[in-house]
Amino acid sequence: MTRRIPEPFRIKMVEPIRQTTAAERASALEAAGWNPFLLDAADVYIDLLTDSGTGAMSDRQWAGLMLGDEAYAGGRNFHHLCDAVAELFGYAHTIPTHQGRGAEQILFPELVRRCGSAKPVFVSNYHFDTTKAHVELAGARAINLLHPDALDTTRAADWKGNIDLDALQRTIGELGAANVAALIMTVTCNSAGGQPVAMDNLRAASALARRHGIPVVLDAARYAENAWFIKQRDPACADLPLPTIVREMFDCADMFTMSAKKDALVNIGGICALRDDAELARAVQVRCIAQEGFVSYGGLAGRDLEAMAIGLREGLDEDYLRWRVAQVAYLGQRLADAGIPIQTPTGGHAVFVDAARMLPHIPPEQFPAHALACALYLEGGVRAVEIGSLLLGRDPRTGLQERSPFELLRLTIPRRVYTNDHMDYVADCLIAVQRHAAGLRGLEFSYEPPLLRHFTARLRPCSKEQAKAA
Ligand SMILES: *Cc1c(COP(=O)(O)O)cnc(C)c1O
Repeated sequence: MTRRIPEPFRIKMVEPIRQTTAAERASALEAAGWNPFLLDAADVYIDLLTDSGTGAMSDRQWAGLMLGDEAYAGGRNFHHLCDAVAELFGYAHTIPTHQGRGAEQILFPELVRRCGSAKPVFVSNYHFDTTKAHVELAGARAINLLHPDALDTTRAADWKGNIDLDALQRTIGELGAANVAALIMTVTCNSAGGQPVAMDNLRAASALARRHGIPVVLDAARYAENAWFIKQRDPACADLPLPTIVREMFDCADMFTMSAKKDALVNIGGICALRDDAELARAVQVRCIAQEGFVSYGGLAGRDLEAMAIGLREGLDEDYLRWRVAQVAYLGQRLADAGIPIQTPTGGHAVFVDAARMLPHIPPEQFPAHALACALYLEGGVRAVEIGSLLLGRDPRTGLQERSPFELLRLTIPRRVYTNDHMDYVADCLIAVQRHAAGLRGLEFSYEPPLLRHFTARLRPCSKEQAKAA
């Protein structure tokens, strides 16, 4: 047996969490319209809804908060952030934003303006949902070109975050390079299960885009986890220091947007940075002032910028990353050992359970992964999230449910927050659910919001007759 990797930190402050009774959970879920998003956090015991902004900061980051320079303009913490970005990524222009989507909303309209096409498109391995939303708000279309490997959860492959290079070449050829506003490479690929992009895939996609004069954007929320996977899985990179791998990744791009709420280990913050394009940087700064805040704070307090500058470096600590990725793998292994189907191999920030295979009797339009999320909450107060048909929604033109390639339950692990005892508890709960999986029913709407419905929808379990008819 391989030895478990213990936490490379000790705990100096604790936050009590409270277990609820089965009766309390049943009434809380009923009151929340069978939608875990609408639960009060106080009614959740282990919260695996997201890894975004839910991590624990280190003592150094907390100390950094005390060093906030709250000057309106040109505060020292802004310079610390610029120094960290220049040192780690080699980019000259750093624009802080309130979070990742803030970076998207100030950059994408400028890329569309620059492209000058009447029918602009963005191409990506996979657009994260807010990324897609901001591409569309900027008047462009978002095209995902995920490698088909990622769609088969049973098949182990090292680089399920890769872009399909043939499809990229074809798409650029068919649409015309002049209509492609940018290539966005999302590392790791959140929507495919936190799966990494290979260095050679990143290089090849970047070279292809650059040959056609298409700007390359990294959606870099999980830059550190992606770099760690490259070091583990790419023999050519096994001996390279992590900062070298990170630099090579960022060398493949011209600019990046980042949600610092993930690998940069802060509870709030984001970055838009450009390598050397001073003119584009100026245009993005103007939008920053209008939408986020002055260019040296971008909607954040000086203290937040300091915590982010420290977190950018801490996120690359190898002891931390080894433990982090091992914890996710540990939970995945416990589930796999019990015969629960998961996306394999596990990714960087979450275990994805294949609900379509676990609950084959529930059709996509009755949201099997959401039914599983509800059952897991009822079982043990664990909150997870559906990544499937409910999230995908309807085609705005036809009003019909879009066909989702996956019905996944995402167990998203916050950084440095839970121990492996908590992971064992989560696994035990899901294994208990599996025992009565055949008896679980799908859900139907009692209220379906017109947009981004998964956040505020209210549902109820289908009747026995509906469940049978399906
Ligand atoms: C979280 C995330 C974003 C958006 O960032 P926010 O900080 O939530 O606004 C964009 N892209 C990816 C890949 C993300 O994971």
